[in-house]
Amino acid sequence: MTIYTSPYAPVRPPSCSVYTFHFSLTHPGSQYWKHPPSAPAFTSAPTGNTLTRAQLRSLTLQLFHGLKHPPPSIRGRLVPFARGDVVLVFSPNSLAWPVVLFGLLAGGACLTLANPAYTPAELAHQYTDSGAGLVFVHPNLLDSVLEMLKLVGVTGEHARRRIVVMQYEPGEAAERKGSGKDLVWLEDLLGLGEEKEEEKFEGDGPDGVNATAFLCYSSGTTGKPKGVMTTHKNMVAVNLMLFAAFSEMDPSKDVWMAMLPFYHMYATAQYDLTSLHYITCGAAPIGSQLLFAAKEKLASVGAHVVIGQAYGLTETSPHTHQLPRESAMRKVGSVGLLIPNLEARLVLDDDDGDEGVDAPEWDDTEEALGGPGVRMSARGELWLRGPTIMKGYLNNPAATRNAITPAGWFKTGDICIRDEEGFWYIVDRKKELIKYKGLQVAPAELEALLLTHPQLVDAAVIGVDDPVQATELPRAFVVPASPPSSLAKFAQEIQDWMASRVANHKKLRGGVVIVDHIPKSPSGKILRRQLRDRVKAVTEAS
Ligand code: AMP
Repeated sequence: MTIYTSPYAPVRPPSCSVYTFHFSLTHPGSQYWKHPPSAPAFTSAPTGNTLTRAQLRSLTLQLFHGLKHPPPSIRGRLVPFARGDVVLVFSPNSLAWPVVLFGLLAGGACLTLANPAYTPAELAHQYTDSGAGLVFVHPNLLDSVLEMLKLVGVTGEHARRRIVVMQYEPGEAAERKGSGKDLVWLEDLLGLGEEKEEEKFEGDGPDGVNATAFLCYSSGTTGKPKGVMTTHKNMVAVNLMLFAAFSEMDPSKDVWMAMLPFYHMYATAQYDLTSLHYITCGAAPIGSQLLFAAKEKLASVGAHVVIGQAYGLTETSPHTHQLPRESAMRKVGSVGLLIPNLEARLVLDDDDGDEGVDAPEWDDTEEALGGPGVRMSARGELWLRGPTIMKGYLNNPAATRNAITPAGWFKTGDICIRDEEGFWYIVDRKKELIKYKGLQVAPAELEALLLTHPQLVDAAVIGVDDPVQATELPRAFVVPASPPSSLAKFAQEIQDWMASRVANHKKLRGGVVIVDHIPKSPSGKILRRQLRDRVKAVTEAS
């Protein structure tokens, strides 16, 4: 069995909570010390307001304290909070985010983070599946949360007691209006009592570090979105592993500009980007054409940047590969090197048992992506092992068993190759997942919804490439209950019907195709490869 290891020396993650680890970076006595307490931690782009690391720490402890010992003004207006509770956070990026995130982590909560584009019905699935109680919500999304709670049968005072409206700008009182007027707001929980050192965090210790810190949703290789149990241990490990992979960064002056997904890049040309020197993009493939176009566009506004890629999955906490800046132009198309403490395999076939069959080590026919004369490995599914692999899928042992072998290998569902210098390339996807501009679209979720349409008897969804937008688009193949009078009109009706029921990124932008049957295996599994081949044949013919 060929096991590839990282070129970086292993690191030794400490056994502590992600909260303790994060704030030890600001503690001058700590071996992980990187920033003075006065260093900015987060700056809000729209307002320019900044939170220093010391302010962030203080606010998070205040929030924890406020939740644990609610002041008289809000007593009884919020359901009680206890360590281990699952809390839903539903908000676009804002300065309140880090306060809520770390404040809840300090209290030992498990956070389930939802895409702010979700419809109330989509949010309801995550809320009930995760077993969440309290919801922290941005004021603009409050009505969606009230609607979601109604869908799950929680109304009136019961609903109001589960909501905290999250808005925070230093020194400014939030303007309370509309349905949020009589609710508890984040600032009601801040500024209360002295923060107590001994209450700092309730999650350290052997149970705490293996507790689930985050429950993000991912469909994995198959099926509907599932709660990915990411532990404190996973998060601490990935942080330390990334320090090694980003060793060229100078934490005393380099600033991360957090802007996901990548396509927002074009919206920033109005800023002074001359100090920008490295862009890392991930979540979906980036073609070399797009990469060079972005580089040129940025150069035209004075930013001479190097653009590289990273790779990872929700299930791997998430970063597993990073292209070092100095190799970025030499290895265009590569997602980089394996970060420390991870092991990897390329597996040809896992039908022969849990431990799979290795792909042949070298493939002389593979195009030399790695550069002239550089040997490439054969293609195989990437399997990963290490301290950042999730604990499992929440309440879903069967899906967990399918994803992680008894020996601890996590099956990514991505088809990869590796060059002899250790750089990795994602070349195909074995799993069902569709990515629209970096955001997950689970075919099974859309298929289940399509099957609730009264005029459909079967459906399958696949991703089709759109070279203009450089992304995949979800396309549905549907079998109508009876032949429609106009195929085009019926297809449009289905597309519109879906658009009113799903978040923006899940819309059937790739179109709807009417068919008389969906190709399936004898066991009833959709043969997506046949549908993909069909799309490919039509594209090549046109
Ligand atoms: P998520 O769990 O939403 O982060 O999605 C993980 C999936 O995104 C991976 O399994 C890949 O299919 C895809 N992905 C992430 N980064 C890249 C990348 N740099 N190139 C190609 N695909 C990527």
